[in-house]
Amino acid sequence: MLNRWMKISVLSAFLILGLFLVFIPTFVSASLQPDDPLPTAIPPETYPNSNTYPAVVYLATQDDLQILYRLVIDFEGLRYVDGAPPTSGAAFRPSIATVYINPDQAQTLSRAGLSPIPIPNEGYRSFLAYGPGSNAPDAWPTFDQFVARMQALETAHSDIVDLVSIGNSVLGKPLYCMEITDFPGVDEGEPEFKYTANHHGDETTGVEMTMRLAELLASNYGIDPVMTDMVDKMEIWLCPIYNPDGYIAGTRYNAHNKDLNRDFPDRFTDPIDDPTGREPETQAYMYFGYDHRFVMGANYHGGAQVLNYPWDAVSGPPYNAPDDQLFFDFGLGYTSRNSYLWNGGWPYGMTRGWEWYMIYGGMQDWAYNYRGEHHVTLEISNTKSPAYNQMDLYWNQNRDAMLWWIQRVWTGLSGQVLDARDNTPLDATVTLVGRDIPNTIHTDPEVGDYHRVISAGDYTLDASADGYQSEISNVTVISGTLSSRDFYLCPEDPWIVSGYVTDAVTGIPLQATIEFIGSHQVVNSDPVTGDYSIEICPASYTMHVSALWHYSEERIVTVDHSQTQDYALLPTPNLSPSEKSASASMPLPMDVVHYQLLVKNAGITATISITDTLPMSITWTGELTATQGIPFFDAGQILWQGELSPSQPVTITYAVSLNQCLPADSAVLNIAEFDDGVNGIVTSKVQLDVANAVPTLPGSPSPLDGAVSQPITTSLSWAASTDLNCDPITYDLAFGTSPTPPIVETDLSATNYDPGALLPGTTYYWYVIAHDGLTQTPGPTWTFSTSPLITFLPLTIK
Ligand SMILES: [Zn+2]
Repeated sequence: MLNRWMKISVLSAFLILGLFLVFIPTFVSASLQPDDPLPTAIPPETYPNSNTYPAVVYLATQDDLQILYRLVIDFEGLRYVDGAPPTSGAAFRPSIATVYINPDQAQTLSRAGLSPIPIPNEGYRSFLAYGPGSNAPDAWPTFDQFVARMQALETAHSDIVDLVSIGNSVLGKPLYCMEITDFPGVDEGEPEFKYTANHHGDETTGVEMTMRLAELLASNYGIDPVMTDMVDKMEIWLCPIYNPDGYIAGTRYNAHNKDLNRDFPDRFTDPIDDPTGREPETQAYMYFGYDHRFVMGANYHGGAQVLNYPWDAVSGPPYNAPDDQLFFDFGLGYTSRNSYLWNGGWPYGMTRGWEWYMIYGGMQDWAYNYRGEHHVTLEISNTKSPAYNQMDLYWNQNRDAMLWWIQRVWTGLSGQVLDARDNTPLDATVTLVGRDIPNTIHTDPEVGDYHRVISAGDYTLDASADGYQSEISNVTVISGTLSSRDFYLCPEDPWIVSGYVTDAVTGIPLQATIEFIGSHQVVNSDPVTGDYSIEICPASYTMHVSALWHYSEERIVTVDHSQTQDYALLPTPNLSPSEKSASASMPLPMDVVHYQLLVKNAGITATISITDTLPMSITWTGELTATQGIPFFDAGQILWQGELSPSQPVTITYAVSLNQCLPADSAVLNIAEFDDGVNGIVTSKVQLDVANAVPTLPGSPSPLDGAVSQPITTSLSWAASTDLNCDPITYDLAFGTSPTPPIVETDLSATNYDPGALLPGTTYYWYVIAHDGLTQTPGPTWTFSTSPLITFLPLTIK
């Protein structure tokens, strides 16, 4: 039987070579005519090493469709006879199904009145034309070339790329996945994501897309902030070649001629979630799913352009998955970024799987139903295997969509489930109470973290683990954001530990923090009464009680009954009331400022050290006093040490002068440190803001004020003004014959001015305004007069 069909397969291959030039990729829809919807039959074109070939079947009624399901025919496409995709919720219309059948199935179908018409084997024709290993210039890389490319990526980015084989194909080829994350191989409590491609060996577009995505993420790490974040805060798994044997041979199937996307457990036909007895590739990916907690995933296919989301199979209401709206919302983000999908014929570029055609045993429904993974099937090229030189076009369509879709793992619900006694991560489930299956979220037992994408809304979560009491909590999810909720589970009913905390000297109630070390269990005592009460998971703990300005206390307690634990904490020294002050807040350079340190101890008597470091901008004047003990100055610091009781604070006073030329508005920051030797250093700081000094009055005029008989060539000068901030000074000059002369020059930096030729016998008035940029100082008005005009008669003329 097999030999006979192998012969036909070889014959088909020759036939295909002959037919190749007239090959039309969209054969089915191109050949459909309203009155003759079916293509002309051709000899069956089988897959290599297989007797299965593609055909179409005309379905006149809903019953015809049911025949395909009942006979478990592998079919992979359904269109109305006019070529349109099935419309959601519409009544049945005559359709054409693409099926994969062997001769026995062909006979069975014919007997059922559905005569299959063989059609060209598009995937295998592509393989023969430019598949891996072909000599065509646009041939696909071989499996080994893809492996080398993955290895090269791992070598070039070994810090963030880990190439892992999760199993072997029937023929022993490794099933490679690339883990892309900041610490590959380390469980970090990050959401996990996976893209797989090439379940069907002749559907190759996704191989190149997932490979390019890996290269994109790796090469942009540390460069693009969003992609860097993705690598740092997720575990991204990319598995380009799911079916190496199919890829190498150019067949839809694996080497056992099994359709790997029909081999998973299924809610209706095969409900036991057990890898046993399945194809090696299926087993590998099931164990891969168990080993990880994939929040989201997708598997890439070809032969259509549509995003297909659960359910792939239904048997009755409810037809829609509990996350139907979220599948649509996230799907819209993908299809709206990909014009091929958007224009692929389906509304919004999407369809629920079962509304198109039902399949049983696909990865999508398994991942969603059994693992709670938000998983879709992405059909991204109408041609199963476009020529390799077309990949830039597909990459441009998928790149941003792939990135966007992955980032959805940062929304929904997340948290940790831990042992209440010691924070051990738990292998737990978090159930969405009152929701349909899938309603269970599994934690990653190594970290205890869980993640679930979900639509906005209010949810009740029930966290449970073997040997522990479950815990229920309500949480609200806001669209596009992540809501976090942690659970701490206890094996038994808790006991109550209560008591009160006081000051051991005064008996005053204290606000204390009561911790049970190693666990999350913590409570604060009431600041007024000192009372506390907490339910504690039974175990032995080190109880740690601490309060401000008190020595903390630890006690080993065994919580196997409700009990009282009172604490009286010894006070420490307490220098918190201490403060520093200054006699001025806005001094000028050269001013003397007095600082005062008032150091109070509100706790128990202790030896106190005071250190007050003077900044470079001030100079100690030599003045230093204290109300007790002996302060001293050394190496730019005011120092004091001594015993300080609560009843006798010390006041230290000292004087400094501000250095000349400190700029206006500059700050002089002075920090005093008070050390009680127990609580760490208490500081008190004083900041002075240097004031602006006005320029000094302009003076020393030349000519002197009131001078007479000055030459008409007289020029003006005056003595420079200064100011304490040492600001640069500029001058405005007023000059004229009026007693209130006009400003004739501004912003002079020199202290002289040439007014040009003066009139004889004239009185002039002038003054200078000194500026420092912030303020100005006008000088007094000065005056002088020029010599009168004298006419010398030439005596010789007489
Ligand atoms: Zn496929």
